[in-house]
Amino acid sequence: MTHVLTALAWPYANGPRHIGHVAGFGVPADVFARYMRMRGHDVLMVSGTDEHGTPILVQADSEGLKPAEAAAKYNRIIVEDLDALGLSYDLFTRTTTGNHYKTVQELFATLYGNGYILQKKTLGAISPSTGRTLPDRYIEGTCPHCGFDSARGDQCDNCGRQLDPVDLIDPKSRINGETPKFVEEDHFFLDLPAFADALHAWLDTRTGWRTNVVRFTKNLLDDLQPRPISRDLDWGVPIPLDGWVDRKDKRLYVWFDAVIGYLSATIEWARRSGDPEAWKRWWQDPEAVSYYFMGKDNIVFHSEIWPAMLLGADGEGAKGGEPGALGRLNLPTEVVSSEFLTMEGKQFSSSRRVVIYVRDFLERYSPDALRYYICAAGPENQDSDFTWAEFLRRNNDELVAGWGNLVNRSVAMAAKNFGAVPEPGELEQVDRELLEATRASFDAVGDLIGQNKVRAAIGEAMKTVAAANKYLADTAPWKMKEDPKRQGTVLFTVLQAVSDLKTVMSPFLPHSSQKVHELLGGEGVFAPMPRIEEVVDLDEGAGATDGPYPVLTGDYSDVPKWESVPLVPGTPLDKPVPVFAKLDPSIVDEEIERLNA
Ligand SMILES: [Zn+2]
Repeated sequence: MTHVLTALAWPYANGPRHIGHVAGFGVPADVFARYMRMRGHDVLMVSGTDEHGTPILVQADSEGLKPAEAAAKYNRIIVEDLDALGLSYDLFTRTTTGNHYKTVQELFATLYGNGYILQKKTLGAISPSTGRTLPDRYIEGTCPHCGFDSARGDQCDNCGRQLDPVDLIDPKSRINGETPKFVEEDHFFLDLPAFADALHAWLDTRTGWRTNVVRFTKNLLDDLQPRPISRDLDWGVPIPLDGWVDRKDKRLYVWFDAVIGYLSATIEWARRSGDPEAWKRWWQDPEAVSYYFMGKDNIVFHSEIWPAMLLGADGEGAKGGEPGALGRLNLPTEVVSSEFLTMEGKQFSSSRRVVIYVRDFLERYSPDALRYYICAAGPENQDSDFTWAEFLRRNNDELVAGWGNLVNRSVAMAAKNFGAVPEPGELEQVDRELLEATRASFDAVGDLIGQNKVRAAIGEAMKTVAAANKYLADTAPWKMKEDPKRQGTVLFTVLQAVSDLKTVMSPFLPHSSQKVHELLGGEGVFAPMPRIEEVVDLDEGAGATDGPYPVLTGDYSDVPKWESVPLVPGTPLDKPVPVFAKLDPSIVDEEIERLNA
Protein backbone atom coordinates (compact mmCIF):
# COMPACT_ATOMS: atom_id res chain seq x y z
CA MET A 1 0.00 0.00 0.00
CA THR A 2 1.29 3.39 -0.99
CA HIS A 3 0.13 6.87 -0.07
CA VAL A 4 -1.10 8.47 -3.27
CA LEU A 5 -1.78 12.19 -3.40
CA THR A 6 -4.14 13.05 -6.25
CA ALA A 7 -3.91 16.80 -6.70
CA LEU A 8 -6.29 18.55 -9.09
CA ALA A 9 -5.91 22.07 -10.48
CA TRP A 10 -7.91 24.67 -8.57
CA PRO A 11 -10.82 26.14 -10.54
CA TYR A 12 -11.20 29.93 -10.39
CA ALA A 13 -14.25 31.02 -8.40
CA ASN A 14 -15.17 33.70 -10.93
CA GLY A 15 -18.01 31.82 -12.61
CA PRO A 16 -19.52 28.39 -13.13
CA ARG A 17 -17.25 25.79 -14.74
CA HIS A 18 -17.77 24.55 -18.29
CA ILE A 19 -17.27 20.98 -19.45
CA GLY A 20 -13.80 21.79 -20.82
CA HIS A 21 -12.58 22.24 -17.24
CA VAL A 22 -13.80 18.86 -16.01
CA ALA A 23 -12.66 17.15 -19.22
CA GLY A 24 -9.07 18.29 -18.79
CA PHE A 25 -8.44 17.11 -15.28
CA GLY A 26 -11.58 16.57 -13.14
CA VAL A 27 -12.78 13.30 -14.63
CA PRO A 28 -9.34 11.82 -15.56
CA ALA A 29 -8.05 12.46 -12.03
CA ASP A 30 -11.17 10.90 -10.51
CA VAL A 31 -10.72 7.78 -12.65
CA PHE A 32 -7.14 7.52 -11.38
CA ALA A 33 -8.06 8.08 -7.72
CA ARG A 34 -10.95 5.60 -7.77
CA TYR A 35 -8.77 2.95 -9.39
CA MET A 36 -5.88 3.47 -6.96
CA ARG A 37 -8.26 3.10 -4.00
CA MET A 38 -9.58 -0.17 -5.44
CA ARG A 39 -5.99 -1.38 -5.68
CA GLY A 40 -5.73 -0.86 -1.93
CA HIS A 41 -3.71 2.36 -1.92
CA ASP A 42 -4.26 5.14 0.56
CA VAL A 43 -5.46 7.90 -1.75
CA LEU A 44 -6.01 11.52 -0.85
CA MET A 45 -7.70 13.57 -3.55
CA VAL A 46 -7.66 17.31 -2.88
CA SER A 47 -8.37 20.64 -4.51
CA GLY A 48 -10.60 23.66 -4.00
CA THR A 49 -11.64 26.95 -5.49
CA ASP A 50 -8.96 29.52 -6.27
CA GLU A 51 -10.48 32.70 -4.88
CA HIS A 52 -7.83 35.39 -5.12
CA GLY A 53 -6.46 37.45 -7.98
CA THR A 54 -7.78 39.94 -10.45
CA PRO A 55 -10.36 37.71 -12.21
CA ILE A 56 -12.33 37.42 -8.95
CA LEU A 57 -12.18 41.17 -8.41
CA VAL A 58 -13.26 41.96 -11.95
CA GLN A 59 -16.19 39.52 -11.70
CA ALA A 60 -17.18 40.95 -8.30
CA ASP A 61 -17.08 44.51 -9.70
CA SER A 62 -19.25 43.51 -12.63
CA GLU A 63 -21.91 42.05 -10.30
CA GLY A 64 -21.70 44.81 -7.68
CA LEU A 65 -20.47 42.31 -5.10
CA LYS A 66 -17.59 42.36 -2.66
CA PRO A 67 -14.78 39.99 -3.66
CA ALA A 68 -15.58 37.75 -0.70
CA GLU A 69 -19.24 37.56 -1.77
CA ALA A 70 -18.42 36.70 -5.38
CA ALA A 71 -15.95 34.03 -4.27
CA ALA A 72 -18.50 32.49 -1.89
CA LYS A 73 -21.21 32.51 -4.58
CA TYR A 74 -19.14 30.67 -7.20
CA ASN A 75 -17.48 28.38 -4.70
CA ARG A 76 -20.91 26.96 -3.87
CA ILE A 77 -21.90 26.55 -7.52
CA ILE A 78 -18.64 24.78 -8.36
CA VAL A 79 -18.89 22.48 -5.34
CA GLU A 80 -22.40 21.45 -6.35
CA ASP A 81 -21.36 20.75 -9.94
CA LEU A 82 -18.33 18.65 -9.02
CA ASP A 83 -20.50 16.72 -6.57
CA ALA A 84 -23.10 16.04 -9.26
CA LEU A 85 -20.39 14.65 -11.51
CA GLY A 86 -19.34 12.26 -8.73
CA LEU A 87 -15.75 13.48 -8.38
CA SER A 88 -14.53 11.68 -5.28
CA TYR A 89 -12.63 14.42 -3.47
CA ASP A 90 -11.44 13.71 0.04
CA LEU A 91 -11.47 17.45 0.43
CA PHE A 92 -12.46 20.18 -1.98
CA THR A 93 -11.91 23.41 -0.09
CA ARG A 94 -11.05 27.06 -0.80
CA THR A 95 -8.04 29.38 -0.84
CA THR A 96 -9.74 31.91 1.46
CA THR A 97 -9.62 29.73 4.57
CA GLY A 98 -7.57 30.75 7.60
CA ASN A 99 -5.75 27.40 7.35
CA HIS A 100 -4.67 28.23 3.80
CA TYR A 101 -3.46 31.71 4.80
CA LYS A 102 -1.39 30.22 7.63
CA THR A 103 0.14 27.53 5.39
CA VAL A 104 1.00 30.04 2.64
CA GLN A 105 2.63 32.40 5.12
CA GLU A 106 4.54 29.52 6.70
CA LEU A 107 5.96 28.46 3.34
CA PHE A 108 6.77 32.06 2.43
CA ALA A 109 8.65 32.45 5.71
CA THR A 110 10.69 29.29 5.06
CA LEU A 111 11.56 30.36 1.50
CA TYR A 112 12.43 33.84 2.75
CA GLY A 113 14.55 32.49 5.57
CA ASN A 114 16.44 30.24 3.14
CA GLY A 115 17.18 33.24 0.92
CA TYR A 116 15.01 32.27 -2.06
CA ILE A 117 12.78 35.34 -1.96
CA LEU A 118 14.37 38.51 -3.30
CA GLN A 119 13.20 42.04 -2.57
CA LYS A 120 13.72 44.21 -5.63
CA LYS A 121 12.86 47.65 -6.93
CA THR A 122 10.34 47.55 -9.71
CA LEU A 123 8.08 50.02 -11.45
CA GLY A 124 4.60 50.27 -10.00
CA ALA A 125 1.66 52.36 -11.16
CA ILE A 126 0.18 55.24 -9.22
CA SER A 127 -2.64 57.58 -10.08
CA PRO A 128 -1.18 61.05 -10.88
CA SER A 129 -4.33 62.78 -9.63
CA THR A 130 -4.57 61.04 -6.24
CA GLY A 131 -0.99 59.86 -5.72
CA ARG A 132 -2.32 56.46 -4.65
CA THR A 133 -1.31 53.02 -5.89
CA LEU A 134 -3.36 51.91 -8.87
CA PRO A 135 -4.26 48.22 -8.48
CA ASP A 136 -3.39 46.03 -11.47
CA ARG A 137 -6.97 45.39 -12.40
CA TYR A 138 -7.69 49.08 -12.83
CA ILE A 139 -5.02 49.47 -15.49
CA GLU A 140 -5.80 48.56 -19.06
CA GLY A 141 -3.76 48.77 -22.23
CA THR A 142 -2.57 46.93 -25.30
CA CYS A 143 -0.86 43.58 -24.78
CA PRO A 144 2.77 43.75 -25.95
CA HIS A 145 2.62 40.08 -26.99
CA CYS A 146 -0.59 39.71 -28.97
CA GLY A 147 -1.85 43.27 -29.50
CA PHE A 148 -5.14 42.66 -27.63
CA ASP A 149 -6.36 46.17 -26.75
CA SER A 150 -7.90 45.54 -23.34
CA ALA A 151 -5.22 43.59 -21.52
CA ARG A 152 -5.14 44.16 -17.76
CA GLY A 153 -2.22 45.21 -15.60
CA ASP A 154 -1.40 41.66 -14.55
CA GLN A 155 -2.71 39.48 -17.35
CA CYS A 156 -3.82 39.45 -20.95
CA ASP A 157 -7.16 37.64 -21.25
CA ASN A 158 -6.56 37.06 -24.93
CA CYS A 159 -3.18 35.29 -24.94
CA GLY A 160 -3.14 34.40 -21.23
CA ARG A 161 0.32 35.81 -20.53
CA GLN A 162 1.19 37.30 -17.18
CA LEU A 163 2.05 40.97 -17.45
CA ASP A 164 3.29 43.89 -15.40
CA PRO A 165 1.40 47.17 -15.79
CA VAL A 166 4.58 48.78 -17.13
CA ASP A 167 4.59 46.24 -20.01
CA LEU A 168 1.29 47.54 -21.40
CA ILE A 169 1.33 49.71 -24.49
CA ASP A 170 -0.62 52.93 -23.89
CA PRO A 171 -1.75 52.09 -20.31
CA LYS A 172 -4.84 53.86 -18.97
CA SER A 173 -6.63 53.93 -15.63
CA ARG A 174 -10.04 52.29 -15.88
CA ILE A 175 -11.25 54.57 -13.08
CA ASN A 176 -10.79 57.91 -14.80
CA GLY A 177 -8.91 57.25 -18.04
CA GLU A 178 -5.73 59.01 -16.98
CA THR A 179 -2.30 57.66 -17.86
CA PRO A 180 -0.72 56.13 -14.75
CA LYS A 181 2.63 57.34 -13.47
CA PHE A 182 5.23 54.68 -12.83
CA VAL A 183 7.35 54.97 -9.71
CA GLU A 184 9.96 52.69 -8.21
CA GLU A 185 8.72 50.51 -5.39
CA ASP A 186 9.66 47.29 -3.62
CA HIS A 187 8.26 43.93 -4.60
CA PHE A 188 9.13 40.31 -3.88
CA PHE A 189 10.43 37.76 -6.37
CA LEU A 190 10.96 34.02 -6.24
CA ASP A 191 14.59 33.39 -7.14
CA LEU A 192 13.94 30.74 -9.81
CA PRO A 193 17.51 30.78 -11.23
CA ALA A 194 18.71 29.41 -7.88
CA PHE A 195 16.77 26.20 -8.64
CA ALA A 196 18.02 25.62 -12.19
CA ASP A 197 20.42 22.79 -11.34
CA ALA A 198 18.15 21.14 -8.79
CA LEU A 199 15.16 21.29 -11.16
CA HIS A 200 17.16 19.79 -14.03
CA ALA A 201 18.43 17.00 -11.79
CA TRP A 202 14.91 16.30 -10.51
CA LEU A 203 13.37 16.30 -13.98
CA ASP A 204 16.01 13.80 -15.15
CA THR A 205 14.75 11.34 -12.52
CA ARG A 206 11.13 11.53 -13.79
CA THR A 207 9.93 8.67 -15.97
CA GLY A 208 6.68 7.99 -17.78
CA TRP A 209 5.63 11.61 -18.13
CA ARG A 210 3.67 12.68 -21.17
CA THR A 211 6.02 14.07 -23.80
CA ASN A 212 4.20 17.41 -23.96
CA VAL A 213 4.98 18.08 -20.30
CA VAL A 214 8.63 17.01 -20.50
CA ARG A 215 9.32 19.06 -23.63
CA PHE A 216 7.55 22.13 -22.30
CA THR A 217 9.30 21.92 -18.92
CA LYS A 218 12.77 21.52 -20.41
CA ASN A 219 12.21 24.67 -22.45
CA LEU A 220 11.10 26.51 -19.32
CA LEU A 221 14.18 25.47 -17.38
CA ASP A 222 16.48 26.87 -20.04
CA ASP A 223 15.29 30.39 -19.30
CA LEU A 224 14.62 30.88 -15.61
CA GLN A 225 14.08 34.43 -14.37
CA PRO A 226 13.12 35.70 -10.92
CA ARG A 227 9.33 35.71 -10.84
CA PRO A 228 7.24 38.34 -9.02
CA ILE A 229 5.24 36.96 -6.10
CA SER A 230 3.68 40.17 -4.77
CA ARG A 231 1.21 42.52 -6.42
CA ASP A 232 -0.47 45.88 -5.98
CA LEU A 233 -3.71 44.38 -4.83
CA ASP A 234 -6.03 44.57 -1.84
CA TRP A 235 -7.39 41.00 -2.11
CA GLY A 236 -5.14 38.06 -1.30
CA VAL A 237 -2.82 36.64 1.34
CA PRO A 238 -0.91 39.38 3.23
CA ILE A 239 2.88 39.32 3.01
CA PRO A 240 4.06 37.96 6.37
CA LEU A 241 6.94 40.38 7.03
CA ASP A 242 7.26 43.34 9.39
CA GLY A 243 6.24 46.52 7.63
CA TRP A 244 4.29 44.56 5.00
CA VAL A 245 1.78 42.36 6.73
CA ASP A 246 -0.53 45.26 7.64
CA ARG A 247 -0.36 47.01 4.27
CA LYS A 248 -3.72 46.97 2.53
CA ASP A 249 -2.33 47.57 -0.97
CA LYS A 250 0.17 44.69 -1.22
CA ARG A 251 -0.68 41.02 -1.37
CA LEU A 252 0.97 37.80 -2.48
CA TYR A 253 0.43 37.02 -6.13
CA VAL A 254 -2.50 34.63 -6.62
CA TRP A 255 -0.45 31.89 -8.29
CA PHE A 256 1.98 31.78 -5.36
CA ASP A 257 -0.82 31.10 -2.90
CA ALA A 258 -2.86 28.82 -5.19
CA VAL A 259 -0.17 26.16 -5.71
CA ILE A 260 0.34 25.95 -1.95
CA GLY A 261 -3.31 24.91 -1.83
CA TYR A 262 -2.32 21.29 -2.47
CA LEU A 263 -0.43 21.31 0.81
CA SER A 264 -2.89 23.42 2.79
CA ALA A 265 -5.86 21.30 1.64
CA THR A 266 -4.09 18.15 2.83
CA ILE A 267 -3.38 19.80 6.18
CA GLU A 268 -7.00 20.94 6.44
CA TRP A 269 -8.21 17.42 5.63
CA ALA A 270 -5.98 16.04 8.41
CA ARG A 271 -7.19 18.63 10.92
CA ARG A 272 -10.83 17.89 10.11
CA SER A 273 -10.20 14.13 10.33
CA GLY A 274 -9.15 14.45 13.96
CA ASP A 275 -5.52 13.47 13.29
CA PRO A 276 -3.79 16.79 12.55
CA GLU A 277 -0.46 15.12 11.71
CA ALA A 278 -1.96 12.69 9.18
CA TRP A 279 -1.11 14.93 6.20
CA LYS A 280 2.59 14.12 6.64
CA ARG A 281 2.07 10.60 5.27
CA TRP A 282 1.43 12.09 1.80
CA TRP A 283 4.12 14.77 1.95
CA GLN A 284 7.01 13.47 4.02
CA ASP A 285 7.03 9.69 3.54
CA PRO A 286 9.72 9.08 0.85
CA GLU A 287 7.60 6.20 -0.52
CA ALA A 288 4.53 8.40 -1.02
CA VAL A 289 3.65 9.42 -4.58
CA SER A 290 1.87 12.51 -5.88
CA TYR A 291 0.05 13.02 -9.19
CA TYR A 292 -0.94 16.50 -10.32
CA PHE A 293 -3.70 16.93 -12.92
CA MET A 294 -4.22 20.10 -14.95
CA GLY A 295 -4.75 21.66 -18.36
CA LYS A 296 -1.76 22.56 -20.49
CA ASP A 297 -2.02 26.26 -19.65
CA ASN A 298 -1.03 25.38 -16.08
CA ILE A 299 1.98 23.14 -16.69
CA VAL A 300 4.47 25.87 -15.72
CA PHE A 301 3.09 26.11 -12.19
CA HIS A 302 3.29 22.37 -11.57
CA SER A 303 6.46 21.28 -13.32
CA GLU A 304 8.61 24.33 -12.62
CA ILE A 305 7.33 26.80 -10.02
CA TRP A 306 5.77 24.51 -7.41
CA PRO A 307 8.75 22.09 -7.50
CA ALA A 308 11.07 25.12 -7.15
CA MET A 309 9.09 26.35 -4.14
CA LEU A 310 9.29 22.89 -2.57
CA LEU A 311 13.03 22.64 -3.23
CA GLY A 312 13.49 26.05 -1.62
CA ALA A 313 11.37 25.09 1.38
CA ASP A 314 13.42 21.91 1.71
CA GLY A 315 16.67 23.91 1.53
CA GLU A 316 17.76 22.16 -1.65
CA GLY A 317 18.35 25.01 -4.11
CA ALA A 318 21.74 26.60 -4.90
CA LYS A 319 21.62 28.65 -1.70
CA GLY A 320 21.05 25.65 0.57
CA GLY A 321 18.99 26.21 3.71
CA GLU A 322 16.94 24.17 6.16
CA PRO A 323 13.43 22.71 6.01
CA GLY A 324 10.96 24.92 7.87
CA ALA A 325 8.24 24.13 10.40
CA LEU A 326 6.42 21.89 7.88
CA GLY A 327 9.47 19.65 7.48
CA ARG A 328 10.91 18.26 4.28
CA LEU A 329 8.21 18.03 1.57
CA ASN A 330 7.99 15.69 -1.43
CA LEU A 331 8.20 17.01 -4.98
CA PRO A 332 5.60 15.87 -7.56
CA THR A 333 5.93 12.30 -8.79
CA GLU A 334 4.14 13.09 -12.02
CA VAL A 335 2.61 16.12 -13.67
CA VAL A 336 -0.29 14.93 -15.83
CA SER A 337 -1.38 17.62 -18.24
CA SER A 338 -4.20 17.43 -20.74
CA GLU A 339 -4.75 19.47 -23.86
CA PHE A 340 -7.81 21.59 -24.59
CA LEU A 341 -11.37 20.61 -25.37
CA THR A 342 -12.94 22.71 -28.08
CA MET A 343 -16.65 23.02 -28.70
CA GLU A 344 -18.11 22.46 -32.15
CA GLY A 345 -14.75 23.54 -33.57
CA LYS A 346 -14.35 26.65 -31.41
CA GLN A 347 -12.33 27.38 -28.29
CA PHE A 348 -14.50 27.37 -25.19
CA SER A 349 -15.00 30.92 -24.03
CA SER A 350 -17.37 32.26 -21.42
CA SER A 351 -17.07 35.80 -22.74
CA ARG A 352 -17.95 34.81 -26.31
CA ARG A 353 -20.60 32.42 -24.97
CA VAL A 354 -19.13 29.38 -26.70
CA VAL A 355 -19.74 27.40 -23.61
CA ILE A 356 -21.57 24.45 -22.10
CA TYR A 357 -21.68 24.69 -18.34
CA VAL A 358 -21.43 21.50 -16.30
CA ARG A 359 -24.67 22.41 -14.53
CA ASP A 360 -26.65 22.87 -17.75
CA PHE A 361 -25.26 19.64 -19.14
CA LEU A 362 -26.23 17.65 -16.05
CA GLU A 363 -29.73 19.11 -16.02
CA ARG A 364 -30.39 17.31 -19.30
CA TYR A 365 -28.03 14.32 -19.34
CA SER A 366 -26.65 11.86 -16.84
CA PRO A 367 -23.25 12.34 -15.21
CA ASP A 368 -22.00 9.02 -16.60
CA ALA A 369 -22.96 10.03 -20.15
CA LEU A 370 -20.63 13.01 -19.80
CA ARG A 371 -17.97 10.97 -18.01
CA TYR A 372 -18.08 8.38 -20.78
CA TYR A 373 -17.59 10.98 -23.48
CA ILE A 374 -14.71 12.58 -21.60
CA CYS A 375 -13.00 9.24 -20.94
CA ALA A 376 -13.43 7.95 -24.48
CA ALA A 377 -12.84 11.15 -26.45
CA GLY A 378 -11.32 13.70 -24.07
CA PRO A 379 -8.29 15.93 -24.76
CA GLU A 380 -5.78 13.53 -23.27
CA ASN A 381 -2.85 13.90 -25.67
CA GLN A 382 -4.16 16.36 -28.22
CA ASP A 383 -6.85 18.98 -28.43
CA SER A 384 -10.18 17.32 -29.02
CA ASP A 385 -13.48 18.67 -30.19
CA PHE A 386 -16.78 18.19 -28.38
CA THR A 387 -19.68 18.00 -30.79
CA TRP A 388 -23.26 17.17 -29.94
CA ALA A 389 -23.45 14.76 -32.87
CA GLU A 390 -20.48 12.83 -31.51
CA PHE A 391 -21.95 12.93 -27.99
CA LEU A 392 -25.20 11.46 -29.33
CA ARG A 393 -23.35 8.78 -31.28
CA ARG A 394 -21.15 7.71 -28.39
CA ASN A 395 -24.05 7.70 -25.96
CA ASN A 396 -26.44 5.74 -28.17
CA ASP A 397 -24.11 3.45 -30.13
CA GLU A 398 -21.49 2.71 -27.50
CA LEU A 399 -22.84 3.32 -24.02
CA VAL A 400 -26.48 2.30 -24.57
CA ALA A 401 -26.11 -0.26 -27.39
CA GLY A 402 -22.88 -1.72 -25.99
CA TRP A 403 -22.59 -1.73 -22.21
CA GLY A 404 -26.19 -0.85 -21.33
CA ASN A 405 -27.64 -3.45 -23.68
CA LEU A 406 -25.34 -6.19 -22.35
CA VAL A 407 -26.48 -5.51 -18.78
CA ASN A 408 -30.11 -5.24 -19.71
CA ARG A 409 -30.37 -8.31 -21.89
CA SER A 410 -28.50 -10.63 -19.56
CA VAL A 411 -30.24 -9.55 -16.35
CA ALA A 412 -33.66 -9.52 -18.05
CA MET A 413 -33.25 -13.04 -19.45
CA ALA A 414 -32.01 -14.46 -16.16
CA ALA A 415 -34.79 -12.72 -14.21
CA LYS A 416 -37.47 -13.93 -16.60
CA ASN A 417 -36.31 -17.55 -16.87
CA PHE A 418 -34.85 -18.16 -13.43
CA GLY A 419 -35.80 -15.23 -11.18
CA ALA A 420 -32.28 -15.46 -9.83
CA VAL A 421 -28.63 -15.94 -10.77
CA PRO A 422 -28.84 -19.44 -12.26
CA GLU A 423 -26.83 -22.40 -11.03
CA PRO A 424 -24.25 -23.14 -13.77
CA GLY A 425 -23.57 -26.61 -15.14
CA GLU A 426 -20.25 -27.69 -16.62
CA LEU A 427 -18.57 -24.73 -18.41
CA GLU A 428 -17.77 -25.18 -22.09
CA GLN A 429 -14.76 -23.75 -23.89
CA VAL A 430 -16.69 -20.70 -25.13
CA ASP A 431 -17.80 -19.91 -21.56
CA ARG A 432 -14.28 -20.23 -20.17
CA GLU A 433 -12.93 -17.98 -22.90
CA LEU A 434 -15.31 -15.17 -22.02
CA LEU A 435 -14.54 -15.40 -18.31
CA GLU A 436 -10.82 -15.44 -19.04
CA ALA A 437 -11.25 -12.31 -21.16
CA THR A 438 -13.13 -10.43 -18.46
CA ARG A 439 -10.63 -11.49 -15.80
CA ALA A 440 -7.75 -10.41 -18.03
CA SER A 441 -9.32 -6.99 -18.47
CA PHE A 442 -8.57 -6.16 -14.81
CA ASP A 443 -4.83 -6.12 -15.55
CA ALA A 444 -5.11 -4.61 -19.01
CA VAL A 445 -7.45 -1.77 -18.02
CA GLY A 446 -5.77 -1.22 -14.65
CA ASP A 447 -2.28 -0.88 -16.13
CA LEU A 448 -3.53 1.76 -18.55
CA ILE A 449 -5.33 3.74 -15.84
CA GLY A 450 -2.17 3.57 -13.73
CA GLN A 451 -0.34 5.26 -16.60
CA ASN A 452 -3.15 7.81 -16.97
CA LYS A 453 -4.05 6.51 -20.43
CA VAL A 454 -7.77 6.85 -19.81
CA ARG A 455 -8.85 6.77 -23.46
CA ALA A 456 -7.02 3.51 -24.11
CA ALA A 457 -8.21 2.12 -20.77
CA ILE A 458 -11.91 2.62 -21.45
CA GLY A 459 -11.35 1.39 -25.01
CA GLU A 460 -9.95 -1.84 -23.58
CA ALA A 461 -12.94 -2.18 -21.23
CA MET A 462 -15.34 -1.63 -24.12
CA LYS A 463 -13.56 -4.35 -26.11
CA THR A 464 -14.44 -6.77 -23.36
CA VAL A 465 -18.04 -5.50 -23.42
CA ALA A 466 -18.07 -6.26 -27.15
CA ALA A 467 -16.70 -9.75 -26.50
CA ALA A 468 -19.52 -10.40 -24.01
CA ASN A 469 -22.13 -9.13 -26.45
CA LYS A 470 -20.67 -11.40 -29.13
CA TYR A 471 -20.81 -14.30 -26.70
CA LEU A 472 -24.53 -13.66 -26.17
CA ALA A 473 -25.15 -13.45 -29.92
CA ASP A 474 -23.14 -16.63 -30.60
CA THR A 475 -24.63 -18.75 -27.81
CA ALA A 476 -28.18 -17.31 -28.22
CA PRO A 477 -29.53 -18.41 -24.80
CA TRP A 478 -33.02 -17.18 -25.76
CA LYS A 479 -33.23 -20.21 -28.07
CA MET A 480 -32.46 -22.66 -25.25
CA LYS A 481 -35.94 -23.09 -23.83
CA GLU A 482 -35.58 -26.86 -24.29
CA ASP A 483 -32.26 -27.02 -22.46
CA PRO A 484 -32.61 -25.03 -19.21
CA LYS A 485 -29.39 -26.44 -17.83
CA ARG A 486 -27.30 -25.06 -20.70
CA GLN A 487 -29.32 -21.86 -20.69
CA GLY A 488 -28.56 -21.42 -17.00
CA THR A 489 -24.86 -21.98 -17.64
CA VAL A 490 -24.72 -19.41 -20.42
CA LEU A 491 -26.67 -16.85 -18.42
CA PHE A 492 -24.53 -17.47 -15.36
CA THR A 493 -21.43 -16.96 -17.51
CA VAL A 494 -22.59 -13.70 -19.02
CA LEU A 495 -23.81 -12.39 -15.63
CA GLN A 496 -20.39 -13.15 -14.18
CA ALA A 497 -18.86 -11.19 -17.07
CA VAL A 498 -21.27 -8.29 -16.38
CA SER A 499 -20.32 -8.40 -12.72
CA ASP A 500 -16.61 -8.24 -13.56
CA LEU A 501 -17.22 -5.44 -16.04
CA LYS A 502 -19.15 -3.32 -13.55
CA THR A 503 -16.00 -3.38 -11.41
CA VAL A 504 -13.73 -2.57 -14.34
CA MET A 505 -16.10 0.24 -15.42
CA SER A 506 -16.55 1.76 -11.98
CA PRO A 507 -13.60 4.23 -12.04
CA PHE A 508 -14.99 5.68 -15.29
CA LEU A 509 -18.73 5.29 -14.72
CA PRO A 510 -19.33 5.03 -10.98
CA HIS A 511 -23.03 5.96 -10.99
CA SER A 512 -23.99 3.21 -13.43
CA SER A 513 -21.68 0.64 -11.82
CA GLN A 514 -23.58 1.21 -8.60
CA LYS A 515 -26.84 0.52 -10.51
CA VAL A 516 -25.46 -2.63 -12.10
CA HIS A 517 -24.31 -3.81 -8.68
CA GLU A 518 -27.90 -3.43 -7.46
CA LEU A 519 -29.39 -5.09 -10.56
CA LEU A 520 -27.21 -8.10 -9.80
CA GLY A 521 -28.70 -8.28 -6.32
CA GLY A 522 -25.83 -6.49 -4.57
CA GLU A 523 -26.44 -4.40 -1.50
CA GLY A 524 -24.80 -1.32 -0.02
CA VAL A 525 -22.36 1.08 -1.60
CA PHE A 526 -20.33 -0.25 -4.50
CA ALA A 527 -18.99 2.98 -6.01
CA PRO A 528 -18.82 5.58 -3.24
CA MET A 529 -19.87 9.13 -4.00
CA PRO A 530 -18.71 12.44 -2.58
CA ARG A 531 -21.01 14.45 -0.36
CA ILE A 532 -21.38 18.15 0.36
CA GLU A 533 -20.80 19.10 3.96
CA GLU A 534 -21.49 22.54 5.40
CA VAL A 535 -18.55 23.52 7.58
CA VAL A 536 -17.12 26.55 9.35
CA ASP A 537 -13.56 27.78 8.91
CA LEU A 538 -11.09 26.18 11.33
CA ASP A 539 -9.28 29.51 11.68
CA GLU A 540 -10.06 33.09 10.95
CA GLY A 541 -10.10 33.63 7.18
CA ALA A 542 -10.45 36.63 4.92
CA GLY A 543 -14.19 37.14 5.11
CA ALA A 544 -15.26 34.85 2.27
CA THR A 545 -15.53 31.93 4.69
CA ASP A 546 -17.56 33.71 7.37
CA GLY A 547 -20.51 31.53 8.24
CA PRO A 548 -21.06 27.97 7.02
CA TYR A 549 -19.81 27.08 3.54
CA PRO A 550 -19.76 23.86 1.54
CA VAL A 551 -16.84 21.50 1.10
CA LEU A 552 -16.79 18.24 -0.83
CA THR A 553 -15.67 15.20 1.06
CA GLY A 554 -16.53 11.52 1.29
CA ASP A 555 -15.87 8.17 2.85
CA TYR A 556 -14.09 5.95 0.37
CA SER A 557 -12.54 3.56 2.85
CA ASP A 558 -14.78 0.63 1.96
CA VAL A 559 -14.29 0.38 -1.80
CA PRO A 560 -14.45 -3.01 -3.54
CA LYS A 561 -11.19 -4.62 -4.59
CA TRP A 562 -10.00 -4.48 -8.19
CA GLU A 563 -10.71 -8.15 -8.84
CA SER A 564 -13.31 -10.62 -10.01
CA VAL A 565 -15.78 -11.64 -7.29
CA PRO A 566 -17.70 -14.91 -7.91
CA LEU A 567 -21.45 -14.43 -8.31
CA VAL A 568 -23.58 -16.43 -5.93
CA PRO A 569 -26.13 -18.66 -7.74
CA GLY A 570 -29.59 -18.21 -6.31
CA THR A 571 -29.24 -14.47 -5.72
CA PRO A 572 -32.71 -13.11 -6.60
CA LEU A 573 -32.93 -10.95 -9.74
CA ASP A 574 -35.69 -8.57 -10.75
CA LYS A 575 -36.64 -7.29 -14.18
CA PRO A 576 -34.02 -4.58 -14.80
CA VAL A 577 -34.61 -0.89 -15.36
CA PRO A 578 -32.37 0.52 -18.13
CA VAL A 579 -29.02 1.73 -16.80
CA PHE A 580 -28.54 4.40 -19.50
CA ALA A 581 -30.97 6.58 -21.43
CA LYS A 582 -31.03 6.48 -25.22
CA LEU A 583 -31.13 10.02 -26.58
CA ASP A 584 -33.32 11.29 -29.37
CA PRO A 585 -31.34 12.54 -32.40
CA SER A 586 -33.26 15.82 -32.18
CA ILE A 587 -31.08 16.88 -29.23
CA VAL A 588 -28.23 17.69 -31.63
CA ASP A 589 -30.11 20.51 -33.37
CA GLU A 590 -31.66 21.67 -30.12
CA GLU A 591 -28.30 21.96 -28.40
CA ILE A 592 -26.63 23.72 -31.30
CA GLU A 593 -29.51 26.17 -31.40
CA ARG A 594 -29.14 26.76 -27.67
CA LEU A 595 -25.42 27.39 -28.15
CA ASN A 596 -26.03 29.96 -30.85
CA ALA A 597 -28.88 31.68 -29.02
ZN1 LIG B 1 -1.91 39.12 -25.09
